[in-house]
Amino acid sequence: MTDLKNSEKPFGPIEKDDWTIYVDKDKCIGAGVCTAIASKSFELDNEGKALILKGVDQENKEALLDSAKACPVAAIIIKNKNGSSVYPE
Ligand code: SF4
Repeated sequence: MTDLKNSEKPFGPIEKDDWTIYVDKDKCIGAGVCTAIASKSFELDNEGKALILKGVDQENKEALLDSAKACPVAAIIIKNKNGSSVYPE
């Protein structure tokens, strides 16, 4: 079974250090770029939507930011704890 970071909110938001991260499920088109760049953090569900995994705790923040930047539809949203946007800018 998929090891989700938050089984009640599989697409987040989740806390990662000083960031809050979530996947906009409606935007996600299942391109899978995030699963390639940040493979500990994302996995596609059976509808092709990117779930957030427990492994996000071990993921390098740079890989997370890169995955958000590489997502073709900007479905990965990263914010600082104060609510300001890290990505999209
Ligand atoms: S890269 Fe974006 S569109 Fe593709 S699976 Fe990840 S979140 Fe969804």
